[in-house]
Amino acid sequence: MATDLQIASRRIVSLNPATGEVLREIECAGEIEVRDAVARARAAQPGWAELGLRRRIEILRKFQAGLYARKSEVATVITREAGKPLAEALVTEVLVVLDAARFLIDNAWSLLRDEPVPHANIVAKLKSGWLVREPHGVIAIISPWNYPFSIPATESLAALVAGNAVVLKPSELTPVVALELASLLQDAGLPRDVFQVVVGEGPAGAALLGAPIDKLVFTGSVGTGKRIASAAAERLLPVVLELGGKDPMLVLDDADVDVASSAAVWGAFVNAGQACLSVERCYVHHSLYEEFAKACAEKTRQLRVGNGMDAHTDVGPMIRERQVRIVESHVEDARQRGARILAGGTRLPQLGPNYYAPTVLADVTHEMRIMREETFGPVLPIMACDDDEHAVRMANDSEFGLAASVWTRDRGRGERLARRIHAGTVMVNDVISCFGISEAPHGGVKASGVGRTHGRFGLDEMVRVKYVDTDRLPGMKKVWWHGYGESFRRQMEGFLDMQFGRGWERMRGALRAAGVVRRKRL
Ligand code: NAD
Repeated sequence: MATDLQIASRRIVSLNPATGEVLREIECAGEIEVRDAVARARAAQPGWAELGLRRRIEILRKFQAGLYARKSEVATVITREAGKPLAEALVTEVLVVLDAARFLIDNAWSLLRDEPVPHANIVAKLKSGWLVREPHGVIAIISPWNYPFSIPATESLAALVAGNAVVLKPSELTPVVALELASLLQDAGLPRDVFQVVVGEGPAGAALLGAPIDKLVFTGSVGTGKRIASAAAERLLPVVLELGGKDPMLVLDDADVDVASSAAVWGAFVNAGQACLSVERCYVHHSLYEEFAKACAEKTRQLRVGNGMDAHTDVGPMIRERQVRIVESHVEDARQRGARILAGGTRLPQLGPNYYAPTVLADVTHEMRIMREETFGPVLPIMACDDDEHAVRMANDSEFGLAASVWTRDRGRGERLARRIHAGTVMVNDVISCFGISEAPHGGVKASGVGRTHGRFGLDEMVRVKYVDTDRLPGMKKVWWHGYGESFRRQMEGFLDMQFGRGWERMRGALRAAGVVRRKRL
C-alpha cells in the first residue's frame, strides 16, 4: 500500500488517504509547461473579457447547473482524494461553490459595472468621474489540499466572471479534484485556455509565481505564504494571501453549555481538524469549565471515525501520515507540560496510518505548542479563563488572526467583545460557517494573511480600478493653470475661505475669488 506522495519520473500519484489506494497518476508540469499555460491564458484572456459580463455570467449559470446535476459525483471525488466524510464534501465544498456561483450570478453585474463618482469640491463639479473595473489579465491561483474544491473554485469563479484568465496550481495531494473543476467549467462552455490546471509540487507553484502573471491568489501555510510574498515583492506583483489560523473560541459565563460544547466538537473535528477556521483554542469561563470540558469529552467519544465514504462516518482520516506526526508531537508536548487528556490522544492504527483519534485536552497553557502553533488536526484544547478580559487577552495572544467565535446568551455582549478580538472574522454563537456565507469576506489579519476572498471584497481583488475623468467644458482653460501672480494668490486664498472658512470668512472669500474665472491664463 502506498502511504505518501510519490513522484516517479515527473508523475504525481494521487492517493486515497483512507485506504492508500492509488487514484490516478498525473504528469507533473515543469517550468516550460507552466510558462506555456500562462502564455495560452494571456492569449485567450482578451477574447474572454470582450465577451462581456452578461455572457460570462451565462457561463457561470451553466457551471452552477452542471455542478448541481453532478453534486454527488463531485462529492465522491472529493471524499476519495481528501478523506473528508461525504456529507462534509457536500456541505462544505459543493454547497459553498453552488452558493458562491449564485452570489456572482446575482451580484456581479451591480458590483462590476462602471460607477459614477460624484464630486463635492466645487473645483471638480464641472468634471464627471467614473470607476471602471478592469480585469488584471492572468490570475494565478495556488491552493491547498484541505478544501480542494471550494477554495480554488470560489476564487476562480470570481476571477473569471471579472474577465480574467486563470491558471490554477492545486495542491499536489489533490490534483484530481482540481481537474474535476476544470472539466465542469469546460462543460459549461468556458474556453479551454481561459482556465487551466497545472499539476505539480512546490516548484510548479514557484514557476507559476515566476511566470508573467498579473496577480496571485495564494492559500496555504504561513511559511509558504512568506516565501511567496517576498518573491512577489521583487516584481511588485499584487498578491492575496490566505494563510493559517489558530482560531480561538471564547465561552462566556452565560453560554449554553450543551450548544457551545457541540459547536466546539464540530468546530475542532470537522475535516479531521484540517480547516483553516478550525477551533484550535478554547477559552471557557471558570464557572462552566469542568462541565463544558466533560460535555466535550463525552460528545467526542461518540464520534465515529473511519472512511469518509461510509455515510455514518463523522471524522475521516488525515491527509497524510506526516500530518498525524505533527498532531502527535503537539499532544505529546502538552501531555508532558501537564495537560489532561479527556478523550483520544492516540493514533488509530487499526484503521490505517492516517487516522488519529479526536482528542480533547484540558488544563492547557500558552506555554504549550498546542496553544501557539497551528496543529491542523483533530485536537480540542480547553483552558479556563477568569473573565471576559482574560479571555480576550488570551485570544489576542497569538501570531494568527483568521477567525474567532464568542459564545454567550447576550448578543450585545458578544458583539462588543467581537470588536476587541484581532481577527478577520468573529462569529457570535457559531463557528466556521462564515466560510459558506458567500456575501461575507474571508481573510485574516496578522500572520493569517493579506487581502480577502469571497463576496464583494473578494470580487474587488479580481479587478483593477481605473478612474476615468472627463471635463464637461473642453473649451475652457482651467483656473489653476499657469499665469500666476499676486492677485491670483489672493483669489485662491479667497477660494479656500469660501469653501472651508466660517461665517463672514466665507462671504469675504467668495468676493475675493470672484475674479478668478476672468483671470488671464497662459
Ligand atoms: P502549503 O503552504 O504547504 O501549500 C499550499 C500550496 O502551495 C500547494 O499547492 C503547494 O504545492 C504550494 N507551494 C508549496 N511551496 C511553494 C512555493 N515555494 N512556491 C509556490 N507554491 C508553493 O499548505 P498546505 O499544507 O497545502 O495547506 C495547509 C495550510 O493552508 C494551513 O496552514 C491552512 O491553515 C492553510 N489554509 C488557509 C486557508 C485560508 O483561507 N486562510 C484555507 C485553507 C488552508
